[in-house]
Amino acid sequence: MAEAGLRKLVIVGGGTAGWITAAAFARLLGHSLEIELVESEAIGTVGVGEATIPQIIRLNAILGIDENAFLKATSGTFKLGIEFADWGRIGSRYLHTFGDTGMNLGNVAFHHYWRRSTFGEAAPDPQGLWHWSLHQRAAEEARFGKLDRVGNTAMTGLAYAYHFDAGRYARFLRAYAEARGVTRTEGIVESVARDGESGDITTIALAGGREVAGDFFIDCTGFRALLLGEALGTGYEDWSKWLPCDRALAVPSERLPVLVPYTRATAKSAGWQWRIPLQHRTGNGHVYSSGFTSDEAAADTLLEGLDTKALGDPRPIRFTTGRRAAFWAHNCVGIGLSSGFLEPLESTSIHLIQSHVSRLIQLFPQGGDAAAMRGEYNRRCAAEFAQIRDFLILHYHRTDREDSAFWRYCKHMEVPDSLTHKLELFAAAGRVGRDVDDLFRDASWVQVMLGQGIVPAGYDRMADQIGEDQLAAFLADLRRVIERSVAGLPRHEEYIARHCAAEPLDAAA
Ligand SMILES: Cc1cc2nc3c(=O)[nH]c(=O)nc-3n(C[C@H](O)[C@H](O)[C@H](O)COP(=O)(O)OP(=O)(O)OC[C@H]3O[C@@H](n4cnc5c(N)ncnc54)[C@H](O)[C@@H]3O)c2cc1C
Repeated sequence: MAEAGLRKLVIVGGGTAGWITAAAFARLLGHSLEIELVESEAIGTVGVGEATIPQIIRLNAILGIDENAFLKATSGTFKLGIEFADWGRIGSRYLHTFGDTGMNLGNVAFHHYWRRSTFGEAAPDPQGLWHWSLHQRAAEEARFGKLDRVGNTAMTGLAYAYHFDAGRYARFLRAYAEARGVTRTEGIVESVARDGESGDITTIALAGGREVAGDFFIDCTGFRALLLGEALGTGYEDWSKWLPCDRALAVPSERLPVLVPYTRATAKSAGWQWRIPLQHRTGNGHVYSSGFTSDEAAADTLLEGLDTKALGDPRPIRFTTGRRAAFWAHNCVGIGLSSGFLEPLESTSIHLIQSHVSRLIQLFPQGGDAAAMRGEYNRRCAAEFAQIRDFLILHYHRTDREDSAFWRYCKHMEVPDSLTHKLELFAAAGRVGRDVDDLFRDASWVQVMLGQGIVPAGYDRMADQIGEDQLAAFLADLRRVIERSVAGLPRHEEYIARHCAAEPLDAAA
């Protein structure tokens, strides 16, 4: 590779991935790199990707983006977690929140005290844990506010992320990046030229004859993976046997009458349906497996499941869950959908863009041979993808549902050993066998394991250190403090009106 004297970075693609990449590089390495982004309005973007996880707050902080200005520009709302309806069984419901549940005592996690309190019951309700969830209570009442701590206790406050309009988000980041020196070129890439000796990409040729040369290329061309996949021939690992959904239909609908601060994911007979509340409209989509239902039936399911009037026809999207065999090959890195796709159940794709960009900036070659950086980048991205994959499989596999061929398949499929180990450990003793650098915290694994219906057989023996009366008083006090805190929060709607109301715009836009 010829990275020596890397001066010119070319980003191909102007969706969420392209513009996050451009914004972050301009902010952090703009002093030493010339950055050009090529995109095609004629091809357009995937147009979905509107729910996030709290790590996006860190990205905004690095970019120096003001939260209120950002939500105003993107018609955004706040998100306390994802409500999973009908997953473990039809009728079940739980919120995978971004925060803790209850409060740990000493070294013992709260769910062990909860489990101890239910120990004599023949069939404890796993969803009982959520009585001690500040996020659940705030979500139920559609309240939101900034809360670092609950009262004067050690209980952590509200952790949150955002929902936003994908098109407006890309435009917002484009304005940010262009203001910091990124050059945007409109054009369709028709071919990619490589150096005969090294195999590195040297130029891309646009329709109309223009050529764009660069030292390093970032492929943000979406599912097509024009550079990393097509030009460099990097293969794809298909994970459909574990995550069989391969299609989606997306449709906007009118805004919800009550602006709830959470995403909803409702399980359907061959997949699931999302609902994302924005200020001016609601985002909806049905993610499904073409092996278990038809496109027509999937569209009917989507439209029947809407809470508000549709603002257009369902738009189809096809995908294969999995990842590129390498995320970085030669002088090209794929970021966004070009690097792989983990279906949107836990809103992880925008986070993966952010995480890949920051990793790439940390490992960006100065010159000479980049093999060590490339190896490290590929190793860490691969581990991250596999960890998220296991967390997603958990939702499908740990179910009592057998009411359709899809759910029977998911319930009885073989899963990766890494997940089997975690399931067994939690079922036996409520322990989380999480990897140290796993994106999802213990609190997330606990909530999804319980939410899907696993009640651990045992609990941490250290939870027996307090007496029965002390335990009862502890649990009752926590509930009181949580109720008081929630009652003091403004309505989500009021908070937005006061701080970050979007300009009124066409709802379907
Ligand atoms: C159904 C679904 C739901 C999703 N929901 C979420 C969610 O809730 N949360 C989340 O975090 N993520 C979600 N995602 C993922 C998210 O949408 C993507 O990670 C994000 O939008 C980034 O996409 P991208 O920029 O990689 O690709 P795209 O948006 O497809 O952009 C590709 C870009 O490449 C350009 N391009 C392509 N070919 C050429 C060419 N030949 N010449 C020039 N330009 C070209 C296009 O014009 C475009 O600008 C979802 C994805 C799907 C499929």
